[in-house]
Amino acid sequence: MKAWEKNIRRVVPYVPGDQPAGDRLIKLNTNENPYPPAPGVRRALGEMDYDRLRKYPDPAASVLTECLAGYYGVDKNQVFVGVGSDDVLAMAFLTFFNSEKPILFPDISYSFYKVWAELFRIPYEMTALDEAFLICPEDYYRENGGVIFPNPNAPTGLLLGLEQVEDILKHNQDVIVIVDEAYIDFGGRSALALLNRYENLLVVQTFSKARSMAGMRIGFAIGASGLIKAMNDVKYSYNSYTMNMPSLVLGEEAVRDETYFRETVGKIVNTREQAKKRLRLLGFSFPDSMSNFIFAKHEKVPAVRIFQALKDQQIYVRHFAGPRVEDYLRITIGTDEEMEVLYDFLEGYLRGEISGKCF
Ligand SMILES: *Cc1c(COP(=O)(O)O)cnc(C)c1O
Repeated sequence: MKAWEKNIRRVVPYVPGDQPAGDRLIKLNTNENPYPPAPGVRRALGEMDYDRLRKYPDPAASVLTECLAGYYGVDKNQVFVGVGSDDVLAMAFLTFFNSEKPILFPDISYSFYKVWAELFRIPYEMTALDEAFLICPEDYYRENGGVIFPNPNAPTGLLLGLEQVEDILKHNQDVIVIVDEAYIDFGGRSALALLNRYENLLVVQTFSKARSMAGMRIGFAIGASGLIKAMNDVKYSYNSYTMNMPSLVLGEEAVRDETYFRETVGKIVNTREQAKKRLRLLGFSFPDSMSNFIFAKHEKVPAVRIFQALKDQQIYVRHFAGPRVEDYLRITIGTDEEMEVLYDFLEGYLRGEISGKCF
């Protein structure tokens, strides 16, 4: 072993869902939107002045920040934008979670919370979801160094009502509470409604899911101006130019087209409700998702077997290892056509597996 090797930071990297290539495959494994971004995004991409790439982008990301502020009816100094919400969340961890006390988040949740806590050496404790996979607000009544949870939660898809979100806030006014609303547009009421009453609340959202722009990497946080200033100070202290110029221009276009946004989100919600019926008929049970995915368990056939059978058909879904979750598949809602292919295959496959009784 070389002397310097002992000084290398060792972390266990997060393993994202596969990004397989091919035309025939059906990709329901990483909660991307099955519809393209708004037409204005394509237009702006075509008209983009490539000579502008020569120059540094606006470090304050003003056009996008102001556009989001207008859309959500807040002041521009209440908005922070970053390179996907992963970047925004990591920046929030660095900025706000500096207590000796542990931060709290659900044990079954977005796996990056644990990754960032370990990376930034933040003490943490995970609170257990109940038997129905619900977050229990009472678990967040104890002393802590901060709170973060997704709403709707991932990978369960379950939504916490605004009253319960507020209950968590009420009991945690001495720390920052981050609500990660990556999936809020698919059915929930945003905690943005509570912003006026809780200056310790930070709401984080993304363009990756409901706005069909996972490849562009845009996320944002909205909170009291003091919180946003603190995040900007941390950002400017080590990297001013996080947002590239195309993201700023194209992100603004995506926000402008409200009609297209409503339409595609509406289609996904309809397909999701249809999927609940179809999957139930096929013998699956699942928490009642308010997101763009369903976390489903089959009553007879183990999840890993179904996962592999689907993969062999080039139908990709997500399977997580670990207690309680390993019986489930997380199935992203695709187009109606993609979902029909999924149901068709599952129907034949599950009938064969169950009559074969090989397990
Ligand atoms: C997808 C997701 C994110 C991150 O999205 P970005 O692509 O980095 O914007 C954050 N939190 C949750 C719960 C997610 O599902």
